[in-house]
Amino acid sequence: MKYNVVIVRFGEMSTKGKNKKDFVAKLAKSIRIALRENEDDYKMVIRHDHIYLYLINDIDNLENTLSEISGMYSFSLAYKIEDPDLDNLKEFALKVFAEEEGKTFKIRARRIDKSYPFISDEINREIASTILKNTSWRVDVHNPDLIFDIEIRDDGAYVFTKTIKGMGGYPSGSIGKTLMMLSGGIDSPVATYLLMRRGVEVTCIHFAAPPYTNSGVIDKLEDILKSLTKYQSKIRLFIVPFTKLQEKIYENSFEGYPITIMRRMMYRIASRLAQRLNIPCLASGESVGQVASQTIDSLNVINEVTNIPVLRPLCTYDKVDIIRISEKIGTYDISIRPYEDCCTIFAPVKPKTSPHLDECLKIESLFDYESLINECLDNLEVKYIKFDN
Ligand code: ATP
Ligand code: MG
Repeated sequence: MKYNVVIVRFGEMSTKGKNKKDFVAKLAKSIRIALRENEDDYKMVIRHDHIYLYLINDIDNLENTLSEISGMYSFSLAYKIEDPDLDNLKEFALKVFAEEEGKTFKIRARRIDKSYPFISDEINREIASTILKNTSWRVDVHNPDLIFDIEIRDDGAYVFTKTIKGMGGYPSGSIGKTLMMLSGGIDSPVATYLLMRRGVEVTCIHFAAPPYTNSGVIDKLEDILKSLTKYQSKIRLFIVPFTKLQEKIYENSFEGYPITIMRRMMYRIASRLAQRLNIPCLASGESVGQVASQTIDSLNVINEVTNIPVLRPLCTYDKVDIIRISEKIGTYDISIRPYEDCCTIFAPVKPKTSPHLDECLKIESLFDYESLINECLDNLEVKYIKFDN
């Protein structure tokens, strides 16, 4: 069916009362950014229940583009009939049924403009009988091949046969901010995506330990973030020079403890940076049980160094499901490029799965980590990654 308007539905955010206006404005902004190369090809109209995109010209790849905008529950590719007179609707329906494939149908009319002279049931019956008389299509109200939706509004009739599920979640940046710990692996980019989809504005922090970790990791992170700018158009990446601190950790740790101590230091640094940036929580790609540092006991001992919330969107995900998402969002191929992570290069032979807090405190009393943390924070590098395809 040809279409000349897209009806965008908000879904979950329509329950947000007085904040709804802000949410809708943010969703509209995301749509404008995503379609910025086509700004002359459509006209956007925001109403209290939907956003309408009236098409002036065809827009390539429109469905894909819209399905990657967070905060959109679904959208329909519709045709607007200016004069919703019943005969016009019948004529249009006949054209559509001549083009579409299938055997069975259902008409689903909604009379939103109550001044329209026919109730929904009458519209359904009138259109259906026209189709039955003039075509070989048959009615099946339970499992039809084609649903012909008609919405009668005060400015005309909107007709559609295709409704596409949107990305869901909330509009970009509408929920709050987080500082995400981004490694070059598979998990943390997926966690970043899930947070963006949920409407959280993500800033990233990466701990780099050159020369132990190769410098290619930064290019890799930039490529990962570039592919995520579809979901958040600007992303900041802070790079922490972690080498000195990491060497001290390895010099002083007892067997099995370096990873735990290293992660405690990462959380300390991230918490302080978050505070400086006025970001109220942290996030990571940790998944319960995946590795030694992600047992419940480990997470507890690691988390002990911070008192701000830590979002762990993947905490219950299996690796195969994480991989599936990373393939879908296009970060998988970048993540599997070989690189040395500061975790892997220094990994102890037998990391502790149940580290003790007392032991951590003992190790940490052996060196002046505070001044090393300050040195890290004084020498941060920052990169800005922007949407530019
Ligand atoms: P990933 O695939 O994201 O690297 P992982 O399964 O390899 O995760 P770990 O290496 O234990 O798991 O890291 C767990 C989480 O800690 C990562 O998802 C990320 O949030 C954070 N993290 C690990 N290494 C770094 C790093 N060098 N810089 C920033 N964050 C890191
Ligand atoms: Mg990793």
